[in-house]
Amino acid sequence: MHEEEGYGLSAPQVGESLRIFVTQREDDEEGQGGIVYINPRFLRVEGTLEAQEEGCLSLPDIRGSVRRQPIVEIEATDVEGRVFRMESSELMARCWQHEMDHLDGVLIIDRMSVMDRLVNRKKLKALEEQD
Ligand SMILES: [Zn+2]
Repeated sequence: MHEEEGYGLSAPQVGESLRIFVTQREDDEEGQGGIVYINPRFLRVEGTLEAQEEGCLSLPDIRGSVRRQPIVEIEATDVEGRVFRMESSELMARCWQHEMDHLDGVLIIDRMSVMDRLVNRKKLKALEEQD
């Protein structure tokens, strides 16, 4: 993911144990606000695993290659209680999986290769010492 930082944010990241996350809109026109996904679930996750670099707001300075499937269909409820479905085979598909991982307590370091974990070892140690 080229600029994953700030692309999405999940409730667990801000101390809420709700199954909610928000993302920017894919077309990203100013003033439109983000998309809120309440109780999201995947209807479909398809395609051959693709490795791409990701970062995360919860892990400053940590970047690593994460393998994910490229095609995702998601269903969620919006802030007005309406159920909606979206599909993406672009950056957003990866973003949804990243945010869904947060809801399940999974971070990108859990999905990185051993090599990437070694590369990020010092930064991870520094983060752990902050807590
Ligand atoms: Zn994240």
